Amino acid sequence: MEILNEHITNILNQLPAHVTLVAVTKTRPVDILQKAYDQGLRDFGENRVQEMIEKQPVLPSDIRWHLIGHLQTNKVKFIAPFVHLIHSVDSLRLLDEINRQALKNNRIIDCLLQIYITTEESKFGLDEAELKEILKAGTHPAMANVRICGLMGMASFSDDVALVRQEFAGLKQLFDKVKTEYFKDSPAFSILSMGMSGDYHLAIEEGSTMVRIGTALFGER
Ligand SMILES: *Cc1c(COP(=O)(O)O)cnc(C)c1O
Repeated sequence: MEILNEHITNILNQLPAHVTLVAVTKTRPVDILQKAYDQGLRDFGENRVQEMIEKQPVLPSDIRWHLIGHLQTNKVKFIAPFVHLIHSVDSLRLLDEINRQALKNNRIIDCLLQIYITTEESKFGLDEAELKEILKAGTHPAMANVRICGLMGMASFSDDVALVRQEFAGLKQLFDKVKTEYFKDSPAFSILSMGMSGDYHLAIEEGSTMVRIGTALFGER
């Protein structure tokens, strides 16, 4: 408990006021989440639907749940009633299903589009052509139950600071371009989710407004 308090305080002290901390709680038992909550944290990130829906009912109802991992279309319905922000929208099909489930729940679900920014092999994230397609459809009136609030990206898992910085800077550039071209009049498009335990300082220097931190708060998984 004491150690957790210290880690939370240390990280919060390092974050500029415009940066939101999402505490990544995947694999952590609910008593750890409760302690982080008692310390004042409200934004929790999980990468698996099953784990999120097990934890959500037994913890305080004002927690903001962030889905940060790959989301399968057939699982959207389980989180649609309560999820605060989905960071990992990586296909039009998925956005469409989120819209359908949000409508069923009579709410609007906030989403980030996950962009493929690394040179590493990865199955997830949109490239620029796919991004264009999803932006055209996602800003259509038929998609009134999803709100695209920004972009998310994961840099290479690498010690090469120049490479990681370049990937973050590229995502920030893309964010600015998308904002100008599609969301000039939508203040909700304001979130750039980038930065994890190993690279959040760099991410913030390059324009991040939301960091997703697990290990640096709670220790190795
Ligand atoms: C696990 C995870 C994180 C947090 O990683 P840490 O290195 O533990 O801070 C951030 N984002 C995503 C998408 C993750 O899956």
